Amino acid sequence: MDFNNINMEIYKFGGASVNSVEAIKNVAAILRNEVREDTLVVFSAMGKTTNEMEILLDAFWKDKEEKEDILKKLLAKHLVITQTLFPLMEHPLYDQLKNMFLQLAGDLKELDFHNYDAAYDTIVSYGERFSTLIISEYLNNEGINCTELDARHLIKTNNHFREGKVDWELTEKLVVSKVKEAFEEGRIVLTQGFISSDKENHTTTLGREGSDYSAAIFAYCLNAKKITIWKDVPGVLNADPKFFSHTQKMEYISYSDATELAYFGASIIHPKTIKPLQNKSIPLHVRSFVDPQEKGTWIGLENVVNTQIPSYIFKAKQVLLSIYPKDFSFIEEESLASIFSVLVKYNIRVNLMQNSALSFSVCVDECKGEWRKLISDLENQFDFLYNTELELITVRHYTQKVIDSVVNNRPILLEQRSRNTVQMVIKNGSDI
Ligand code: ASP
Ligand code: MG
Repeated sequence: MDFNNINMEIYKFGGASVNSVEAIKNVAAILRNEVREDTLVVFSAMGKTTNEMEILLDAFWKDKEEKEDILKKLLAKHLVITQTLFPLMEHPLYDQLKNMFLQLAGDLKELDFHNYDAAYDTIVSYGERFSTLIISEYLNNEGINCTELDARHLIKTNNHFREGKVDWELTEKLVVSKVKEAFEEGRIVLTQGFISSDKENHTTTLGREGSDYSAAIFAYCLNAKKITIWKDVPGVLNADPKFFSHTQKMEYISYSDATELAYFGASIIHPKTIKPLQNKSIPLHVRSFVDPQEKGTWIGLENVVNTQIPSYIFKAKQVLLSIYPKDFSFIEEESLASIFSVLVKYNIRVNLMQNSALSFSVCVDECKGEWRKLISDLENQFDFLYNTELELITVRHYTQKVIDSVVNNRPILLEQRSRNTVQMVIKNGSDI
């Protein structure tokens, strides 16, 4: 089979699309109605399971009293869904589920306390494995023939746990050979998002919300014709409806718009998703699993349609940190290098930066408090001024009128404009 000449598609269903029996039945209906060609389907863990897996790990890590109860609750949640889908308790799925839970319980008892991140990936990955185990049995039972492949045997990463870096060459080889076999049997391929493994076959993950990225990795390796991400919204909106009452759905956005929006914090898709797709010009269709009749949003090449609808991203809880060399010297490459090495050390994402002769300002997330560690590491060399409780507003395709309406007369502490994007750090006031 020549993988360049066949029509192959990738679907991705996130946690919200499989968080109940009704939701799983809806996914089955979508697959029945929509799948016409070879399709690989990526699933997340059910609902908020990943958060629950994190709580479970924390309880066993700290030997909390309630640890066994948390494990039982997790089993109960998956059992209730299984029992509704398979009322006959003799179904082999029950044994498979039980064995997987026993394996999880075993892993929790043998946690490697030297490496939290490695333990995290091993434990948290079960969320995706439970969901695909149940869903694949259900789909096959419904006559939708599918083969489940363990994503850890497909996506290979380095051993940077919780944020695995993909080994593209090896991954491509594995994906092409394993998926090909299943497609030749005329089956849908079903696999997990988010999870992967390193060279020694230790489980790794691609970072929270990484299932979109998994889908893009598969699309890249298989030269897919297109990729569809099924969501609970009608498509990509130009602002988060939580913050903005007049949202507009965009029919088409470019790869760069999508990347910029995701990078600055819009929760449309995982920010790493676009690059592999852009590199092979694979279009991404964001569609609603609630209403598959909706047209959704296409993400693709710049020159197809030029949409200039302004999009807004609001990031609350920001700190603006201004850093001054103590001896009144200029901010030069050397001082920047020492500031950046500390930013890297504490894994602090800079959301905005600006320098003048005597100071360097960065806007970073307040929540983890890592910026305080930066201050204490550098206080011999630099003086600091900072403001907390700020908001970072990013507007793509801005006009002055749009800026005025979002700023709403609040004081702007820092502003940066490029041709397409304006970013402003603003003192928090009432919402617009
Ligand atoms: N289940 C994982 C998470 O919630 C990955 C994903 O859903 O994209 O982070
Ligand atoms: Mg998700």
